Amino acid sequence: MNSRKKVAVLAASMVLSTSLSAFAMPLEKVGTGFAKNVIVLIPDGMSQGGVTLTRWLYNEGAPLNLDGITSGLVRTNNSDTPIADSAPAGTAMATGHKTQDKLIAVKGKAATLYGSNSDDVKEALAPLATVLELAKTQGKAAGLVVTSEIMHATPADFSAHAVNRKNYNDISEQQVFQNMDVVFGGGYKFFTAADREDKQDLISEIKGQGYQLVADKKQFDAITDGKVFGLFAPSDLPYELDRKQDEPALPEMTSKAIQLLSKDKDGFFLMVEGSKVDWAAHNNAPAALTADIKAFDDAVGMALNYAKTNKDTLVIVASDHGNGGISMGNEATSGNYSTLPINAFTDTLKKVQMTEETLAKAIIKNEEHTSDLIKTNFGFVPTEAELNTVIAADSQGAKMKALRTILNKRSNLGWTTGGHTGEDVALYVYANNYKNQLTGTVQNSDIGKYIAKAIGGELDKTSEQLFVPSTAFGKYGVKCAVDNSDAKNPSFVLTKNGHSYKFQENRNYFVGPEGKVTFNGVVVYNDKEVFIPQEALKMLK
Ligand SMILES: [Zn+2]
Repeated sequence: MNSRKKVAVLAASMVLSTSLSAFAMPLEKVGTGFAKNVIVLIPDGMSQGGVTLTRWLYNEGAPLNLDGITSGLVRTNNSDTPIADSAPAGTAMATGHKTQDKLIAVKGKAATLYGSNSDDVKEALAPLATVLELAKTQGKAAGLVVTSEIMHATPADFSAHAVNRKNYNDISEQQVFQNMDVVFGGGYKFFTAADREDKQDLISEIKGQGYQLVADKKQFDAITDGKVFGLFAPSDLPYELDRKQDEPALPEMTSKAIQLLSKDKDGFFLMVEGSKVDWAAHNNAPAALTADIKAFDDAVGMALNYAKTNKDTLVIVASDHGNGGISMGNEATSGNYSTLPINAFTDTLKKVQMTEETLAKAIIKNEEHTSDLIKTNFGFVPTEAELNTVIAADSQGAKMKALRTILNKRSNLGWTTGGHTGEDVALYVYANNYKNQLTGTVQNSDIGKYIAKAIGGELDKTSEQLFVPSTAFGKYGVKCAVDNSDAKNPSFVLTKNGHSYKFQENRNYFVGPEGKVTFNGVVVYNDKEVFIPQEALKMLK
C-alpha cells in the first residue's frame, strides 16, 4: 500500500469513528430528569414531501408549527427489515427497542440490522415496558389521543403488549386495565361483547372503573375534570376533510387532554397520533393527506402553547416511517419543473371539500350526476376524458382511484408506492434547555430512551419490574398453573404457602383469600408464557 492510499484509509476510518460517536453523542449529552411532562406526537406514515405540500397549501409557504422545532432525522428500520410498519416502529419509540413486523411492545426473534439489540432475541416475545407505563410507575397521569380506533398499532404500542397488532381482543382489554386517565379516539365496537371473540363487555368495565364515557362533541365539551374515555366512532374517526361539526378535531382533543392530564401534580405523559395521515398516504390521496397533516400540525401547536408556558414540558414529534413517496413534481414535469408556478400544485387541492372516498360513495348513489358532484365537491368541471374514467370505474375502490388520479395529475404530484417507504423521517423536539435537546441522526429506539431519560426513569429496569416471567416465579416462592377452561379468557392460579390467587390475562388485579387486589401494570400472556408485575408477586402471602 503506498502512503497516499494509507492516508486515505486512515481518513476513512476517522470519518467512520467520528460519525459513529456523533451518532451516539446527542442522547448521551442529554441531562437526566429534566422534564415533568412529556407530549409525544406521531404523524403516522408522514413523508417529508407531504409536509412541504401542506405548508404551501395551508400556509402560503410560511412555517408550520413543526418547522419551529426541527431537530434532526430519525432512522426507522425494524430490527431485521429496512422498511417499517407501525407496530415495530411505534414499539421502538415507546420502548427503546427495535423489533419485528406485527409485534406490539414485545421483543423480536431476529436482530440482524444496524441499531437492533441481539440480546433481545434471547427473550423473544417478552413484553417491553413503554414510556407510558414508566410514567404511570412514577405516579404521572397518562393519556392517548388518536384518530384511528385506539387499539390500532401506534396507540397499542404505548399501552399494550401483543405478538400481533391484529389481536384487538388482548390489546383493548389491556388498555382498559392500564389505568390511563384520558383516552380519545375511535373503536367503541371493539369494547362491546357483541363484537368481541371473548364476549367480554368492556364498556361496562370502563364505566365501572369510574371513567366518564363520552361519544360526541357535546359530551366531550362538557368534560372538565376526572378520568375519561372518549370513543367517537365504532372504529376509526373520519378524515379531517370529512369531519362533521359534532365530531371533535385532533387539535381539540389534544388541548382537552392536556387540560385534564395537567391537573396531576406528578406530571403527565400524552401520546397524540395523527393516525390517518398514514391511511391517506396508502391511498395516494393528496387532499385527505394534507388536511390531516394540517390538523396534526395544529395539534402540535396546542402542545407547544402548553410547553412554552410550562417549561418542564418536553414535546417530541416524529413520524414512525415514510409512506407513499409523495413528491411535488412527477414524470410529466420532468421537462418543465423549474418554471411551474406554485398554483400549479395548489389551485386544485385548495377547492377540494371532501375526500375522494366520500365523493366516490356519493357518486355511486347518484351516477347520473357525476359531473355535478365533482364540480360541487372538488371545485372544478371535469374534462370529458376525466369524467369518462370516473364513470367507467366499476367499484367504489376504482372510482376512488380515478378521482385521486385526477387530483394528482392536476396538482403535478408524484407517488412511488401504495405502501410504506424506508427513508429517514424528520425529528422535531422542544425541550426547555438546548443542552437537553435530542439532535442529529438518531434511531427510532433513541426516542424511547430519550423520553425515559427526560423523566428520570429507565425502561429496561421498568420492564424487569412490570414483567416477571413465570420461569422466575420460584424466586418469590410462588407456583403457577394455567387455567385454560375458558379458552378465550385464560387465567393463572398462583399458589404460595397453601393460599391461592387467581390472575387473569390482560388485567391489573388478582383475587385471593382477601378478595380483589389491584396492582400497577397488567398481566401479559403471549400464549407460551405469562408475565406478572413484581409488585403483585410481592403482595402474595
Ligand atoms: Zn405507521
